[in-house]
Amino acid sequence: MEEDKTVTKEIIANLIDGVLPDVDVEQLQRMGRKDSDRFWKYIEVLQERVPWHDRILLRLTDHLYIVQKRAGERIVKCDCGEELGDYRVNWKMHTLVRTRRTSSEFEEVYTPSYVAPEPKWMTIREYLCPGCVSQLGVEAVPPGYPPMFDMLPDLDAFYRDWLGAPLEDEDISWFEDRTATITAAWLRENSNA
Ligand SMILES: [Zn+2]
Repeated sequence: MEEDKTVTKEIIANLIDGVLPDVDVEQLQRMGRKDSDRFWKYIEVLQERVPWHDRILLRLTDHLYIVQKRAGERIVKCDCGEELGDYRVNWKMHTLVRTRRTSSEFEEVYTPSYVAPEPKWMTIREYLCPGCVSQLGVEAVPPGYPPMFDMLPDLDAFYRDWLGAPLEDEDISWFEDRTATITAAWLRENSNA
């Protein structure tokens, strides 16, 4: 890759797949001009790889994306097509959860087993997609600790200030953790039952 070459979609695709040759990675890092064009190519590559057509705003994990369903609706979507609700609510609330609590359950995933945590102090949660059962995330936390909200991006600021392409449904309320609306609804359901 030469200094003055533009970053091609092929380079971006290799970068995403983790198969970009080291020499190209170094070259990419040395290139001073961090053009937003690179981001649009990245999004284009991602968009070509998913089987649906909702506009990808940001990739969250290997499987998850924030997409714009329509103006005024930004949700988390798995590459399989499963939708995990408004992106301001921690997507983990909409998954299947497997919790490991005992030493023998820890030993299934820790080798050697003596590096496994102490069950009294730690639980391991695996979050699985209800659609394709892919593992979407794992966290080791003290028992009873709320699911960690890994990332709530300020999408409007990113698109407006960094990309110079404001989203048409820009609004201050997009940058707001709404996870408590789900837990409050669960609480109401339980107290009515
Ligand atoms: Zn899925």
